[in-house]
Amino acid sequence: MNISFARFGRITRCGTMLLLCGLLLCTSVLHAADEVNVYSARKEQLIKPLLERFTEQTGIEVNLLSAEAGALLTRLRNEQRNTPADMLITVDAGNLQRAVEADVLQSVDSEALQQLVPAHLRHPDGLWYALSVRSRVIFRHRERVPADAINSYAQLADPAWRGRICIRSSDNIYNQSLVAALIEHQGEAATEAWAAGVVANLARSPQGGDTDQLLAVAAGECDLAVANTYYYARMLNDPQQKATAEQLAVVWPDQDGHGAHINISGAAITRHAPHPEAARQLLEFLLSESSQQWYAEVNNEYPVREDVAASEVLRALGEFNMDQLNLSVLGKNNAAAVMLMDRAGWR
Ligand code: FE
Repeated sequence: MNISFARFGRITRCGTMLLLCGLLLCTSVLHAADEVNVYSARKEQLIKPLLERFTEQTGIEVNLLSAEAGALLTRLRNEQRNTPADMLITVDAGNLQRAVEADVLQSVDSEALQQLVPAHLRHPDGLWYALSVRSRVIFRHRERVPADAINSYAQLADPAWRGRICIRSSDNIYNQSLVAALIEHQGEAATEAWAAGVVANLARSPQGGDTDQLLAVAAGECDLAVANTYYYARMLNDPQQKATAEQLAVVWPDQDGHGAHINISGAAITRHAPHPEAARQLLEFLLSESSQQWYAEVNNEYPVREDVAASEVLRALGEFNMDQLNLSVLGKNNAAAVMLMDRAGWR
């Protein structure tokens, strides 16, 4: 199941290389013959401008294939050593761990990357690195739910919230990863009891994406919702949705405990990458200061690097303590999380 390169969106033209040649940059022209092929599960407009900038800076062409995360992993699995892909960019540590388990990634041992990316945001053996951070938190209706009414994930199972919570279905990886983190912190039995409590508190059968949960709170269908921070930030940035979003407030859970559950978008170099050195350069580029700033901002996410500031909208949500759990755990506990939610009746 080889994909044809015609399916890739070619980002630069040979003209760039000829021009460079004309500028006597002969050694880099040898390099510029390089290219790097990226399989990406992100929306094209959220990554492509960055890849174009990489090409401008290095002369290395980037061929981008965008598809859904599961489809990309299936491709990598089927292509094995015939894969044209050098890099996989995807969301959720659970998806990255699936790629680790499918043995389609290679370890990148880069001192630069280890310094830039905090330890909990990269695979312990360098099999993947986070590019951006999001937190999965609780949102309350500003008026119907006082600020001190809830401050932890555990309280979502409290009978006080019967019929008042909106959250999407258990087949969504964000919820699976949240549950996987809870399993790591408190064990399976306690997490299963918690999940059953959450299910008992649902205002409606799980439906829609994260934004739909936020809209349902604003519409009065529920009083609390669980969603990723970037969905909320996106609403705040949208003049048509800003007023709706402002009816809600963020609750940063577990600030005196493990911290708010976080997840990432991340990148990895494939095991059989035809251009591993160019891929490594791209990875380092994606974690450079200016890339981090741009990527986090357009995706409404937090930068991975501690020396890069979050966007204004996110800064306005306030500082918070994030869970320091190594995110490879989310993939490790994924199967247990899925089964547990099923037993708890979480549709
Ligand atoms: Fe999402």
